[in-house]
Amino acid sequence: MAPSSPSPPLYPLFADLRGRLALVVGGGAVAKRKAQALLEAGARVRVGAIRLEPELARWAEAGRIEHREGAFDPAWLDDAWLAIAATDDAAVNRAVAAAGEARRVWVNVVDDAESSAFQVPARVERGPVQIAISSGGGAPMLARHLRETLEAQFDDSLGALAELLSRERERIRARFPDIARRRRFFERLLGGRIPALLRQRRPRRAQQEFDALLARDARPDNAGSVVLVGAGPGDPGLLTLRGLRALNEADVILHDHLASDEVLRLARRDAERIDVGKRAGGGGVPQHRIHALMIEHARAGKRVVRLKGGDPFVFGRGGEELQALRAQGIAYEVVPGVTAALACAAYAGIPLTHRKLAQSLRLVTAHHKDSLDEVDWRSLTQERQTLAVYMGVAMLETLQSQLIAHGRAADTPFALIENGSRAEQRVVVGPLSELAERARIHGVASPALLIVGEVAALAGELHWYGEAPLTILPHAPLLEEAA
Ligand code: SAH
Repeated sequence: MAPSSPSPPLYPLFADLRGRLALVVGGGAVAKRKAQALLEAGARVRVGAIRLEPELARWAEAGRIEHREGAFDPAWLDDAWLAIAATDDAAVNRAVAAAGEARRVWVNVVDDAESSAFQVPARVERGPVQIAISSGGGAPMLARHLRETLEAQFDDSLGALAELLSRERERIRARFPDIARRRRFFERLLGGRIPALLRQRRPRRAQQEFDALLARDARPDNAGSVVLVGAGPGDPGLLTLRGLRALNEADVILHDHLASDEVLRLARRDAERIDVGKRAGGGGVPQHRIHALMIEHARAGKRVVRLKGGDPFVFGRGGEELQALRAQGIAYEVVPGVTAALACAAYAGIPLTHRKLAQSLRLVTAHHKDSLDEVDWRSLTQERQTLAVYMGVAMLETLQSQLIAHGRAADTPFALIENGSRAEQRVVVGPLSELAERARIHGVASPALLIVGEVAALAGELHWYGEAPLTILPHAPLLEEAA
């Protein structure tokens, strides 16, 4: 029985159940889950119940479990090391607990900490690594919530890492019999490239790196690296788990002005932050200088995160940055992000493709006059094609007139999404022929993404985030907006 409060903390333990008998009382879905977990731990499982649910019945038939049929009998506990009471009858569960107590068999009663001699923790599993979480039995939902939080923090390479380390344990001990040197070796290993290589699913490279590290003496390891991380459009909820991890491990963060403050706030507190944002219309840090900064910090052994708005490979010059790193032999990774077209469409309620309205999607940049001069306008004016135009705010006049001149209908719907996914998001909609005028009336400024195509009309119906789209009537007086 659980002792009365204030209770001392529970004593945690990881039990080796291989070949040991465990009893589950109950034959329903919960009992099945418990039996399965015990089987996975290598236990011999006996299930006592009047009736077994179908899968348990199959397991009994196949000899995976032993079935004792009928009402609970304390003799079921014979030879068992532990038992789980998982019936839906509280009195039966308590009887199991009492019988266990009398025979010194550890009993857990599902969802009843009071009657339980032991509890099964919520856990995060990565191969042989297990993190067990207990709320002391009183607040299993809290433990489950913590588990979800922790699930997000560790990727599956942790399992591969644990396997590598246990496989190599003897070699490491033999190489570094001295505990202090061994500890330094582990620090270098865990802070170095090997976890990243395992994350990239390159076990052979990781093994080579391990062998090299083991052969080397305990000299400081200076290999820095760069991770190109897509920060998404602004809403920090759209950052990927991998991006979050990279931000947590960073020593230096080089960020764009499009990477939002909310995302930056998720980064390691003591990481050095350098704003290298290039603003439209000049200013900011030139590209070659960004390359130089990345290289310089990586050479100094730092873990550098290059944080870019949206996705690094969509109008983000991520390719050039990787080429610069590659030329200098600096290790890198890329973490994709939610690009503005996808995010703005989602947050404005505009499906980019639609069985009836759009069969294809084009991502286009209208950065400056030259980039538009080279455009094959005809290819952009097909019907039932969605255009997502980046960096187009200054070029709306040209976009509107050229698209119409090359054959796109003047009444093709557009949606202009300013600050997509952010608290200040605004969406302006209307016919293509009024694009520039409406943008001017509403004072739309960068960053804004333009969507042109039949699907844009759906914003009026499907919007769900922030204010409804601004749909002013043509030639309406300034500031008059009909929702
Ligand atoms: N790599 C980025 C794009 C960089 S180009 C990505 O994948 O999203 C910069 C342009 O992206 C801006 O001019 C604007 O058109 C668009 N953009 C980025 N974030 C945006 C946001 N939150 N809302 C609207 N447009 C955005």
